Amino acid sequence: MTRSDEDKTKAAGVCDSCSELFTVWSCQDGTVRPVSPHNACSCDDPSYRVVEENEVFDDDSEAAGANAE
Ligand SMILES: [Zn+2]
Repeated sequence: MTRSDEDKTKAAGVCDSCSELFTVWSCQDGTVRPVSPHNACSCDDPSYRVVEENEVFDDDSEAAGANAE
């Protein structure tokens, strides 16, 4: 019946155009798209890709995002 859910995994993603971070679906066919379009960036021509964990969490993993900006 349905098989799509098994073809994709949640991952941290980024837009290469604006460096916005959000959660994405990483599909086995290489497609990367935001889990929620409303949480993604508003680029006219976004370029989504999966971010490696060591790329997101540099050396401040526990507090990442807590006090940014
Ligand atoms: Zn963007």
